[in-house]
Amino acid sequence: MKKDLRRLVQIVLVLFLVIGALWVNRKNRLMVENSGYRVIMGTFAQVTIGIRDEAEARDLFRMAFAEMERIQKMMNDRDPDSEISRLSEIAVDKPVEVSPELFDVLWASVETSRLTEGAFDITVGPEVRLWRRMQQEGRPPTPEELAAARSRVGWEKLILDPEKRTVQLAVEGMHLDVGAIAKGYTVDLVAKALVDAQVPTGMVDIGGNIRCFGTIPDYPEGWVIGLQDPRNEEERMAKLSLRDMSVATSGDYRRFAQVEGQKQSHILDPRSGQSVRDLISVTILAPTAMRADALSTAVSVMGFEKGMALIESLEDVEAIVVTSEEPGQFISTVGADQYIIAPD
Ligand code: ADP
Ligand code: MG
Repeated sequence: MKKDLRRLVQIVLVLFLVIGALWVNRKNRLMVENSGYRVIMGTFAQVTIGIRDEAEARDLFRMAFAEMERIQKMMNDRDPDSEISRLSEIAVDKPVEVSPELFDVLWASVETSRLTEGAFDITVGPEVRLWRRMQQEGRPPTPEELAAARSRVGWEKLILDPEKRTVQLAVEGMHLDVGAIAKGYTVDLVAKALVDAQVPTGMVDIGGNIRCFGTIPDYPEGWVIGLQDPRNEEERMAKLSLRDMSVATSGDYRRFAQVEGQKQSHILDPRSGQSVRDLISVTILAPTAMRADALSTAVSVMGFEKGMALIESLEDVEAIVVTSEEPGQFISTVGADQYIIAPD
């Protein structure tokens, strides 16, 4: 009888331990939670995280989208009340102090302009506006209209003082347009906020500007991201396996307009004011989403030869491009191979 009781106690104890272990395991297990898509900066954004507590995930998503909206409010050049729009009016010939976030983006933009010899240039605003107007009117700009816009474009006309955190514009009628870098910058900020909140792994995506951090134990490949075939939305041309890495894709296949039957890309060569067309899609892998975002636009402008040469010269940055000559094929830098998984 005593023996039986002892046995029973033992069994109960073992059961208790097993259930306890399962319970702890369940509590410790990372679940993958996704926010779903929301419209941010004129495109779709989503956040995916590995987390142990569903309720906590909801709070983190709320924080992440609040952060995206905060930056959007500052940097939206289509909103006349945004910090960046007001700057275009008040900073002519006079230094104006700006928020640390806006200064960071402007500083990185000018650095990218220098690196790309002006292929990337956030002072492109007047040319972007001219082409927007041409799309509405359904005609190309006259040489005079183009020259007038070009005279208000040029990154050397944007004068920054990092000590005083001020911005000055050298000529009247300039318009700063951070559309090619702000999404990446915001992705980095949100990813950092999630890491600071002890989130072990996650992925932040604003319109294909993506940053991944950490890995989920059950997924040794890390975060797997499909690269869409630019000529066929249903197909993936490759998959990328990423951890602590960013990726951005820039291309003419989704966002373009027609002016007199001519395809007009949303990316311009700021030096000529003309739309670019050599590359159908440019994917950049880089440590930060801001760098990937800016360089994907820059390489689109620079074209295949110069663009690939630039990326090969940069440590930690890789490119995967599709040219208009061989629409079905992608060409990548040597170091990109380590991230590419064959299509399924
Ligand atoms: P993509 O996602 O295709 O790279 P982005 O959204 O990053 O495009 O950037 C395109 C936007 O940047 C345009 O809508 C325009 O506002 C602006 N832009 C266009 N050409 C340039 C350029 N050469 N340098 C910097 N910004 C540009
Ligand atoms: Mg970009």
